[in-house]
Amino acid sequence: MSLEADIGIRALARFGHFRLDRTTGAVHWSPEVYELYGFDPFEPAPSLAMALAAFPERAQAELRRGIARSWETGEEVSVAASITRRDGGRRDVLARLRADPPDGDGPRTTLSGILLDVSEARTFDERLERERELLRTTLDHMDQGLLVVEPDMSVPVLSRRVTELLRLPEAFIETRPSFPEILNYQYETGTISLETLNSSINAYILDLEDLPEVHVYERETFDGRTLEVRTTKLPDGGFVRTFTDQTARRRRDAEIARAQAEYRRLFENSVVGIYRATPEGRPLRANAALVRMNGYDSEADLLAAVVDPAAEWSVDPARLEEFLRRLRDDGLVTDFVSEVYRHKTRERIWVSETAWAVHDDAGAMVAIEGTVIEATARKHAEDRIAHMARHDALTGLPNRQHFADRVAAALAARSEGAELAVLLFDLDRFKAVNDTLGHPTGDALLRALAARVAGLIGDEGVVARFGGDEFAVLAPGAGTAQAAALAERILEAVRAPVPLEGREVGLGASVGVARAPRDGADPTELIKAADVALYRAKAGGRDGWRFFEPAMAAEVEARQRLELDLRAALERNEFALTYQPVIRTVTGVSVGYEALLRWSHPERGPIAPEEFIGVAEETRLIGPIGAWVLARACADASAWPGDICLWVNVSAVQLARPEFEAELDAALEASGFPARRLFLEITETSLMEHKADLAPLIVRLRARGIRTALDDFGTGYSSLGYLRRFTFDVIKIDRSFVQDLAQFETAAIVMSVLDLARRLGIVTVAEGVETEAQLAALRVAGCSFVQGHFFGPPVDAASIRG
Ligand code: C2E
Ligand code: CA
Ligand code: CA
Repeated sequence: MSLEADIGIRALARFGHFRLDRTTGAVHWSPEVYELYGFDPFEPAPSLAMALAAFPERAQAELRRGIARSWETGEEVSVAASITRRDGGRRDVLARLRADPPDGDGPRTTLSGILLDVSEARTFDERLERERELLRTTLDHMDQGLLVVEPDMSVPVLSRRVTELLRLPEAFIETRPSFPEILNYQYETGTISLETLNSSINAYILDLEDLPEVHVYERETFDGRTLEVRTTKLPDGGFVRTFTDQTARRRRDAEIARAQAEYRRLFENSVVGIYRATPEGRPLRANAALVRMNGYDSEADLLAAVVDPAAEWSVDPARLEEFLRRLRDDGLVTDFVSEVYRHKTRERIWVSETAWAVHDDAGAMVAIEGTVIEATARKHAEDRIAHMARHDALTGLPNRQHFADRVAAALAARSEGAELAVLLFDLDRFKAVNDTLGHPTGDALLRALAARVAGLIGDEGVVARFGGDEFAVLAPGAGTAQAAALAERILEAVRAPVPLEGREVGLGASVGVARAPRDGADPTELIKAADVALYRAKAGGRDGWRFFEPAMAAEVEARQRLELDLRAALERNEFALTYQPVIRTVTGVSVGYEALLRWSHPERGPIAPEEFIGVAEETRLIGPIGAWVLARACADASAWPGDICLWVNVSAVQLARPEFEAELDAALEASGFPARRLFLEITETSLMEHKADLAPLIVRLRARGIRTALDDFGTGYSSLGYLRRFTFDVIKIDRSFVQDLAQFETAAIVMSVLDLARRLGIVTVAEGVETEAQLAALRVAGCSFVQGHFFGPPVDAASIRG
């Protein structure tokens, strides 16, 4: 190829000439070479060495060798390299040179060449190549197959996808088949039918003129796929044809149709009402459930009825406004519960709606869609639960929480200077009623008394039940005098006998009264104050009422402190036992000893059992304390002579504990003290106040050989009944009778008790004998045993030797 032709191809390249004179060594550059080297065109041309220096070393060597060869043979030398310009930039160049023919026979003395800048030419080539590559990749990766058919039916472009879709093998493609050859191949290999072959030949080869500009048809391939074939005529004859595999789209269409049918079934058969409505809430579609919910037979009836202006739709306007506002703001409303009409029948029902806004592409709300469930039953259940949460199930009265709310409301509504009273009361000995007459009777009694007190209070006030036999009354506007009168009326109401199962039951009550504002400013304070007053009323002998006084709070605090100290007393080993003898009346000899508990408080010194046993019972601390007493007393008594008995006081609370028998057995076993020498004393009052049905336990105790004594006999209530029921072995006649023996009536009572005990085969002990005279009287009356200070103070265990 001539230099010029080469240059012609590279029309975009810049080039310059150079010459070299072999004899002078002078180099001549054309201005383009100066520019390529980055030299100033006015400076003298450099030497050959300098001109070569811009080339990389390997190219320099190549050039030197080439130049030397060309001087000899005149052959052409061509070296491509990247030169470094003076400014540090690089250019891709092609250097071509050749020694000029000599003048006559002499040697070659001049050499000319060109320096061609191919940097840009290369970029241009690369770009073309890239674009071709890009087109090829695009064609090959297009989901559509594409082929171009020239007017002469040759196929210059055929994408890889076509070969896949038409199942044309590589080897066949390499033969660069024409369009008729492709058709024919398909027919021969059975991928198209003869009919398709013929119609294609007619349409695209013979009658191409008649074909519309764009012609589209779909056909099934032999392997069951759907191909869309689109033929577009080209302006200069020939056509472009694309093949699109529509199998997936077909499947998707079928799936969409199936899903639509499914949704329609869901819509129609759903038991939940479903609708589509205008942005103002007027229904456009309603499913069968919603139609029925509104009392209609068909969707058409419902939709016709709701556009009738005479028949107004949905809900209370304020609720509808709220519903639409939330839809506009949040786009979604869930579980919106409201009371509506059944559209046709005007019957009121509750519904729960969930709705969402439907927007167009511009974001405007164009419709509302939603679901409706009838929630009447749920609403009623919720109302019932709400009522239950605020009322007592047994009496239907407000409960503590509700009462506190009512007190708060009354306090808030109270006008300047006005008063208000909160009364708390509980029934005295209600537990005994429950235990003796049974819980159903107890419940009936509570209901009767609740109704009675509620009638007394009227609509102004509130009666509440806090639980058990504890009630509260709120009397708005009641000052001191009215509150006192109300407390009295409550007591009277409770005392009046209630006819129950053929018998009349009358009880007492204790009432605590707190007055606002003096006793408290909020419900909690007032209820607390009334509770403190109630506690004092009970401690003050029951069946009475008390106003709250600030000093009471201090008492309650002292009691709480006592409780704390009592909890610590066992651990700190502050308890001890002392023993009071039981004397046989006729001989004056000790036959046993009663263990009496002593508590030595670290700060307050000795505290009497009267002060702490009650607290121990209420706090159930009596359990562990009583267990300690049993263990200690049995251990002490095991060292006594064989005929001396041990008497231990036990509380009914302690007996009712499930652990009691195990603790008792453990005390006996650990000490080795025989059960037949043990007496357990139970007070009458504790029996009545606490779990009373100890008869089976007493039977089991007796089976072990343990005997039981009814303590403080005569101080309790229905004593004779207890005697019969529990079959105690011993009764201990209370100290108060012994002290009053000089009185005729008391003496008569004691005589008849001793007589009765004798007849029932029960042994008697008289407590609190302090004088010779008392002892003499008891001896004459036939009391078997006595106890009391007359025989000296209690002693410690170690001093008992027989
Ligand atoms: P209680 O079982 O009736 O015990 C007799 C109480 O009367 C004892 O009071 C005793 O010191 C006192 N006493 C004895 N003789 C006379 C007398 O001639 N004149 C006077 N004025 N009093 C006399 P204490 O020890 O203060 O006990 C009081 C109550 O505490 C006991 O009454 C008993 O019910 C209870 N208690 C004492 N120790 C225990 C115990 O270990 N467990 C239980 N559950 N209760 C106990
Ligand atoms: Ca006793
Ligand atoms: Ca007693």
